[in-house]
Amino acid sequence: MTSVPKNPISPPPLGEPYLLTPGPLTTAYSVKEAMLRDWGSWDGDFRAMTAQLRADLLDLIGDTDNAFDCVPIQGSGTFVVEAMLASFLPRESKTLVLVNGAYGNRIAETLKYLGRDHTIIDKGDYLPPRATEVAAALEADPAISHVVVVHCETSSGILNPIKEISDTVYQAGCKLLIDSMSAFGALPVDVDAINYEAIVASANKCIEGVPGFGFVIGRKSELELAKGRSHSLSLDVHAQWANMNKTGQWRFTPPTHVVAAFMEALRLHKEEGGVAGRGQRYTENRDVLVKGMRDIGFETLLTEPWLSPIIVTFFNPAHAAFEFQKFYDAMKKRGFIIYPGKLTVVDSFRIGCIGHMDGAIMQQVVDAARDVLVELGVDSARPPEIALLERSKLAA
Ligand SMILES: *Cc1c(COP(=O)(O)O)cnc(C)c1O
Repeated sequence: MTSVPKNPISPPPLGEPYLLTPGPLTTAYSVKEAMLRDWGSWDGDFRAMTAQLRADLLDLIGDTDNAFDCVPIQGSGTFVVEAMLASFLPRESKTLVLVNGAYGNRIAETLKYLGRDHTIIDKGDYLPPRATEVAAALEADPAISHVVVVHCETSSGILNPIKEISDTVYQAGCKLLIDSMSAFGALPVDVDAINYEAIVASANKCIEGVPGFGFVIGRKSELELAKGRSHSLSLDVHAQWANMNKTGQWRFTPPTHVVAAFMEALRLHKEEGGVAGRGQRYTENRDVLVKGMRDIGFETLLTEPWLSPIIVTFFNPAHAAFEFQKFYDAMKKRGFIIYPGKLTVVDSFRIGCIGHMDGAIMQQVVDAARDVLVELGVDSARPPEIALLERSKLAA
């Protein structure tokens, strides 16, 4: 085991492929290694780890007033989004959900399950919700008390303008909840720059841990108000919070190995320079990827400033010999797992920029893509005209 090269940026061991996906993603060897020990969930050592985890995550939002607290919740990211919605939205509230992709849609669907009154602004596959339309919607319906937005909508990779939305929401006297699942840890969400009541993310995205839990970072005054609101015993954020503060423990079996791995992931995150350092590496990953793919002839769905350093959507080439499954398989054979697209209008695929990878690896991805096009007999990566027409709807 000691012969495996360590951080920074070491290749995955045992020839496993790189995951160019939005999580689970490629983790550092030392993160995997941290799972080689068993922990008693009741024991003081594990309780200390939980306390450290909560404190370290709080450090990432620059909460100098100590107004927020961090509550980890077992499960995947969707569990923690649901937990946040059920706990931070009063039962009698009305919520505006800003939708521009699968994760915004999932939030609206969750509110249906929860029986919480809501309305949506649906911008389709990828267009960003803007301040003026949010302001108009809030003015038109004074019953709306809360707004929910996705930070980076992972289904297209668009970086939604959460600062402008937050300003609008609070100017209208409403409250904001943020799904920052795929951005937290790499893009700043400092509370002195962006106002919100709660934000959620999970272990297996930009902090580069393995999947198994998520966390809500919420304003303490709102956490107090959440008592008794949740429809769900296991997803009750207030109950988990109160219990953790009282006993230092998770209410039900915690994913102990995942937490241990996450502590190592947090250590690496800090060592890299925190949110700024992580964001810088991902930005370089994206820049190498996007430039390289454009040089081959691929086109991105998004252009600056909407292109996130998290995941990039590329249009499928129009060429008759291009088939996504063949492209996927040939990329996998070269050591890279890519991701199908989620656009409804045109065919696309996605390549993630997050995970334990750097610009040199992204260059290998580009080289592999060039190689694969030759192998498939695709001599032009240009997308169909309809894709470019679609893209022209995106104003800066
Ligand atoms: C990953 C992700 C989620 C959660 O998805 P899970 O599959 O439940 O982990 C939620 N919102 C966004 C924006 C995401 O990227």
